[in-house]
Amino acid sequence: MRVEFDTIAAISTPMGEGAIAIVRLSGDESFSIADRVFRGMGDKQLQAVPSHTIHYGHIVDPATETIVEEVMVSVMRGPKTFTREDVIEINCHGGLVTVNRVLQLVLRQGARLAEPGEFTKRAFLNGRIDLSQAEAVMDLIRAKTDRAMNVAMGQMEGKLSKLVKLLRQEILEILAQVEVNIDYPEYDDVEEMTLKVMMEKSTYVRGQIEKLLETSEQGKILREGLSTVIVGRPNVGKSSLLNSLVHENKAIVTDVPGTTRDVIEEYVNVRGVPLRLVDTAGIRETEDIVERIGVERSRKVLKDADLILLVLNHSEPLLEEDRRLFETVNGMDVIVIVNKTDLERVIDMKEVQELSAQHRLVTTSLLKEQGVDELEEAIASLFFEGSLEAGDMTYVSNSRHIALLHLALQAIEEAIQGAEIGTPVDMVQIDLRRTWEILGEIIGDTVQESLIDQLFSQFCLGK
Ligand code: GDP
Ligand code: ZN
Repeated sequence: MRVEFDTIAAISTPMGEGAIAIVRLSGDESFSIADRVFRGMGDKQLQAVPSHTIHYGHIVDPATETIVEEVMVSVMRGPKTFTREDVIEINCHGGLVTVNRVLQLVLRQGARLAEPGEFTKRAFLNGRIDLSQAEAVMDLIRAKTDRAMNVAMGQMEGKLSKLVKLLRQEILEILAQVEVNIDYPEYDDVEEMTLKVMMEKSTYVRGQIEKLLETSEQGKILREGLSTVIVGRPNVGKSSLLNSLVHENKAIVTDVPGTTRDVIEEYVNVRGVPLRLVDTAGIRETEDIVERIGVERSRKVLKDADLILLVLNHSEPLLEEDRRLFETVNGMDVIVIVNKTDLERVIDMKEVQELSAQHRLVTTSLLKEQGVDELEEAIASLFFEGSLEAGDMTYVSNSRHIALLHLALQAIEEAIQGAEIGTPVDMVQIDLRRTWEILGEIIGDTVQESLIDQLFSQFCLGK
């Protein structure tokens, strides 16, 4: 038995996990959709290759033929697949943003974004697995998901849902106002006036959705990590800091080549914040960066940084070098770290606090492994509170959310256009209500699920 379904796609590896991520397609159109975005050796067509084979090539944007990602594609013809349907798995290695881009491409070619657990649901409905097996898969997925990452994603989604709720409220208010206007038809131009109000307010909502989508397309942070430079006088503990951040966190494997040979770079995931850590001590262990390459150049190196970790020594007095560093990083996102708190205090903390007035200040003993949690907290909150990024924008990186935001944008666009050309008010209302519903799906508010849907919606997206 096999039930006919449309073709679905999703990222089937947990967010942020490891270096490889897989975009999975399932359904009758899988092969033809993949062929539209895949460029292999010669004129290779995935539809024509033997089942259960893997192929090297590139994913391109068919509109421009620009290469988006270097991939390995697995081709699996049904019914010998997990879902019993034709399945394509695109193995990407370029991190979350690239994977998202690949997913968006296949969605644009006609695949539908899979609901959470929908692959497993199909396997179940196509008789491939029974319910208890489905539940086992669910447990496995749960166990594999990175807890810290979930917390981080949760924080981000909390911000997103707050914003989405506000936008929905906005739309409700437009709709309410329309009702009021319609109830007072004594004005001649009530229809025209109502349309004008609808247009203005909808334009605001559209702007907000566009802003959200823009942040989702800012690939920089997630692809390369926030460029984070560790500065400080020799011997304050820069390398120790780098090491403890690397050891306490999952190192991110990346194939973005290091830009400078003589600095040490490490990619780590700190509470869901991807960092590209640069230890300037690597330039020359015995001299600090400012001394070594001069104020001008170090300023330039530092200027490209998204975040500065400025390390001081608790057991020594503040020196001119320290003060000069504060000047160099003035105006940037800085976390000041007073290290070696296990040793007797010599540093003037009052002066440190004054110098750090614009920054966050953390004390650590890297030797005793103290204070690193607080430092990570400071990094994460800088990022998630948005001060590390464009103003107070929420960062959207979830493909389901991105797809829904695109749909919401379309719907509000139609409402605005309708209002512009003077479509009857109730038609515009329909588009607005649709926008409201789509936004509701982001926060899980409007989907009326059957029991089975509810069960399967507990799965991670892409399984
Ligand atoms: P860097 O020159 O700034 O990179 O400093 P390092 O990380 O190489 O550390 C210099 C020395 O300070 C090493 O011997 C470290 O073991 C030591 N050190 C680092 N952190 C601490 C700390 O919190 N307390 C103490 N007592 N020593 C530390
Ligand atoms: Zn060092």
